[in-house]
Amino acid sequence: MKPAYDVLVIGAGSVGVPAAWALAARGLKVCVLDGAAGPGQGQNKAAIGGIRATHSDAAKIWLCQESLDIFRSWTEKSGDQIGWRQGGYCFPCFSEKTEEHFRKLLAIQKTFGLGIDWIDAAAIGELVPGINRRRLRGGTFSPGDGSASPMMSCTAFYRHARRMGAEFRFGERVTGFVRAPGRIVAVRTDRGVVAAGEIILANGAGARDLGAELGLDIPVFSDSHEGGITEPVQRLFEPMLVDIRAVPGSKNYYFYQNDEGQIIFCISPDPLVVGKDTRATSSFLPLVARRMCSLLPRLAGIRVRRTWRGLYPMTPDGSPVVSAVRDFSNLKIAVGMCGQGFMLGPGTGMLLSRWIAGGQTERDRTILEKLTLYGDFSKGVEELK
Ligand SMILES: Cc1cc2nc3c(=O)[nH]c(=O)nc-3n(C[C@H](O)[C@H](O)[C@H](O)COP(=O)(O)OP(=O)(O)OC[C@H]3O[C@@H](n4cnc5c(N)ncnc54)[C@H](O)[C@@H]3O)c2cc1C
Repeated sequence: MKPAYDVLVIGAGSVGVPAAWALAARGLKVCVLDGAAGPGQGQNKAAIGGIRATHSDAAKIWLCQESLDIFRSWTEKSGDQIGWRQGGYCFPCFSEKTEEHFRKLLAIQKTFGLGIDWIDAAAIGELVPGINRRRLRGGTFSPGDGSASPMMSCTAFYRHARRMGAEFRFGERVTGFVRAPGRIVAVRTDRGVVAAGEIILANGAGARDLGAELGLDIPVFSDSHEGGITEPVQRLFEPMLVDIRAVPGSKNYYFYQNDEGQIIFCISPDPLVVGKDTRATSSFLPLVARRMCSLLPRLAGIRVRRTWRGLYPMTPDGSPVVSAVRDFSNLKIAVGMCGQGFMLGPGTGMLLSRWIAGGQTERDRTILEKLTLYGDFSKGVEELK
């Protein structure tokens, strides 16, 4: 079967769409298949839009540094509005133990050239006027990080991918594969068969099921998280605030004020809700609103417009799986983005384009070694995942 495309991407989400753009920009004939009716309709649209490079793991730091460069310069280069705002990330700290921990992490982050520092409680008070300073010891602040609209960004990447010649086939679900020894010849869909030279599996929370069709054990297990958004209000603060204190019923929660003045927020439930249930609950809003208003009392009275629930496609170690596959020479997987697929997407897309079209760097190879499917997933969980 003669391949109709150089590259077939399964999944038009946070990873698949920027990957299609990056690959098409290198002159490759790209096709993207998605069971949904348009781009970014999976978990991409559930993301609240936070983008940071300040992780604890080298692979994620490097991927997100490249993503940040793309988000930051997108409007200037392309003219599209994506809601980018460089407000930074602030992790306020309320205990000696957490301070010690953050300071240790800072030392590692600085070795990657990340612009992140410890600031005292007064400086946090200036960044976030009205913040409750009870027990506040200070915290980390990374002014280079920011946020953008996941829907506007995905749509912008989609338009540019199409302009570069990429073809998108929506409402077409991949159901299986046509195999030859050592490679995949084509994918089977609910509409037919599509052949391509290279296949990229970028189907997020569906990776485990589709991997099983190939006899692969891809360790992606979803858990569900809820988000919400308020009406727009005057600017109150700039950074994404991440409060990692755990209280009964929830772990960390994080929120920021977007480009249009709306407060966007989400929380990690405790215990985690494992599975693919995306029905919004009635318990989320009271839980998160109480915590947010206790940290920043000025938020009280702002009206919430809506809430939603989506999935984190999690891996056992909190890092994505971006990997070659031993049994199939032309299959690459880019899944398991956990709670950070929106920020990892463009950087991962660029890496995939260099891997397939040529120009792979030493750093790319190191990232792939770290994010391999064949790694030791029990080695410990990535901090601040
Ligand atoms: C409440 C909440 C807040 C979040 N906030 C952030 C944030 O601030 N920053 C951040 O970076 N991340 C955030 N995330 C995480 C982020 O949404 C995900 O990590 C990311 O969207 C995953 O990207 P993906 O491309 O792997 O999957 P998706 O974006 O879900 O894309 C996968 C696509 O594959 C398609 N698909 C699946 N199976 C098939 C099949 N068999 N055939 C064809 N198509 C298929 C789906 O329809 C989907 O469109 C948040 C998530 C939630 C739930």
